[in-house]
Amino acid sequence: MPITDLLQRTLSDLRISVTDRCNLRCNYCMPAELYDGHRFLPKQEILDFEEIARLARLFATLGVRKLRLTGGEPLLRRELDRLVRALAKIPGIDDLALTTNGLLLPAQAAGLRAAGLRRLTVSLDALDDAIFARMNGRGVPVAEVLAGLAAAEAAGFTRIKINAVIERGVNDGEVLRLAEHFRGTGHVLRFIEFMDVGESNGWKMERVVSATEIARLIDARFPLEPLERERDPETALRYRYRDGAGEIGIIASVTRPFCGACSRARLSAKGELFTCLFAASGFDLRALLRGGATDLEILRALEQRWGAREDRYSERRAEAAARGESLPKVEMSYIGG
Ligand code: SAM
Ligand code: SF4
Ligand code: SF4
Repeated sequence: MPITDLLQRTLSDLRISVTDRCNLRCNYCMPAELYDGHRFLPKQEILDFEEIARLARLFATLGVRKLRLTGGEPLLRRELDRLVRALAKIPGIDDLALTTNGLLLPAQAAGLRAAGLRRLTVSLDALDDAIFARMNGRGVPVAEVLAGLAAAEAAGFTRIKINAVIERGVNDGEVLRLAEHFRGTGHVLRFIEFMDVGESNGWKMERVVSATEIARLIDARFPLEPLERERDPETALRYRYRDGAGEIGIIASVTRPFCGACSRARLSAKGELFTCLFAASGFDLRALLRGGATDLEILRALEQRWGAREDRYSERRAEAAARGESLPKVEMSYIGG
């Protein structure tokens, strides 16, 4: 039975963070100065695959059609293909995707594909090694991500989404280069406005390169025409190259928020339900799972949480900023973007 929240938004999309750990330290997400030495969750605190699959099944009965695995870095979770296989079998789930930094794809792409993973997003913020190394906080060269991408292609993934977070003064000079590189490859490059997620990434509005600016920059070199905005699930602004070299997307959650169409819930690695990327706290589903709750009890709890939802953080951001305030938030690596 599909359910709706207080703003009449359905629940159709669930992001599942399978780990809070990562092998990179992207400056906008898990900056090394804060995350090196950080105490990550011990194994017993993280949901096991059976718990995740049970919750996913229950979410599917409430109308969820799309699952996306994320993290931290999801490929760090051992035997992830086992989870993919279980999720792919859930009735009602017609889209199963994963977001990764790509580094472990050479070893895992084929297994994930065979297990039933259909769609892949690979994050890559720059093609210049020095810029990328600085952004990823681990000195990892671009070639490692490109090798992951090549492995994914070889495993049969097509129309891979490439996510690039653009930060002014850091990698805004890479926008055109990325566009040129991925034009004509069949993959869909998506620029993401730098977001004020969590408290640790030093976000300032001046560092956001707006969707309008990004589109103008690309259009001046490779003429674009707008396509209809995806309503759900990704809500990216979409453009196609006029010369037929493919499509790009821009996720403008800062300058053109899309809360009105937001039908996405998030499950953290330790089993908390977040009804907004910017929510300050989550609802502890793990306690229900491990406390012996029945399916019906869990369904009721989910219905109740979603039914009470009125999150629209991105739309409220501007209002709060005008009052000189900011709102407390969780870290992105915790709930997976
Ligand atoms: N580790 C995987 C990866 O990087 O693809 C999956 C998790 S990561 C949190 C998911 C996505 O969130 C990535 O594409 C990343 O670039 C994006 N992201 C992280 N912090 C962000 C921020 N402050 N603003 C915008 N996007 C961000
Ligand atoms: Fe890790 Fe992804 Fe965050 Fe980068 S964006 S630190 S790869 S979780
Ligand atoms: Fe959805 Fe929250 Fe983002 Fe708005 S700010 S689109 S409600 S996740």
